[in-house]
Amino acid sequence: MAASLIADNVKRVQERIADACAQAARDPSEITLVAVSKRKPAEDILAALAAGVQHFGENRVEEAEIKIPQVHSALAQQADVAPPVWHMIGHIQSRKSKHVPPLFRVVHSVDSVKLARQLSALGGAPLDVFVQVNVSGEPQKYGFEGYGWQRDVQRYEALCAAFGELLRLPTLRVRGLMTMAPFDAPEPELRSVFASLAQLREALAKQFDVSLPDLSMGMTDDYPSAILEGATVIRVGRAIFGERDND
Ligand SMILES: *Cc1c(COP(=O)(O)O)cnc(C)c1O
Repeated sequence: MAASLIADNVKRVQERIADACAQAARDPSEITLVAVSKRKPAEDILAALAAGVQHFGENRVEEAEIKIPQVHSALAQQADVAPPVWHMIGHIQSRKSKHVPPLFRVVHSVDSVKLARQLSALGGAPLDVFVQVNVSGEPQKYGFEGYGWQRDVQRYEALCAAFGELLRLPTLRVRGLMTMAPFDAPEPELRSVFASLAQLREALAKQFDVSLPDLSMGMTDDYPSAILEGATVIRVGRAIFGERDND
């Protein structure tokens, strides 16, 4: 995609973030925009960086292993641009976990205790992580089971047991929770999925007496609603880079 189109798109997304924040009486500086560059070339990432985006999300380790070095070597020639912060947002297979910390500073998709243990055991620099929770209850979604946690005591207790384990793991810094809303859901349903995650964050923060500053929720089709429900990190792909051909 042309660099000027990407720059226009970034501006438009920033304006919609500002509008949603105004509606929610929030400060736009509370929101981190992660531009989801999966399936898009390094040159598109460089265009978004030039337009002021600092955070990028990828969902496949193999793809990131190629693209991240491409971006960094292009940037080595431009002393004035800071390198981006890379976010892993997709499901991580066990055998790929060791490749994650060298590439990414943030992982949004910690969806099992097993994966968290593997990432922690790798040691190294602290890794910021989000615990992915499936609050919509769709069977095809990854994440800890969180559907109906307010009514279902057993489910809430299972979440607490897992969460407590994650908090104890060295190297990982649990920043908060992440979810994906159902595709094409009507606005009230989206809002209730996002609200459920926000309430779960509050419940867990209180239960474990920890600060969980972040909520990663909201994509191209629903990020204004997510901001209204308290998102601090939004993951936006198509609204910045255009449609993807091969998902
Ligand atoms: C692809 C993806 C996004 C971005 O989706 P868009 O609809 O392109 O904004 C966000 N989060 C995750 C986990 C994704 O896989």
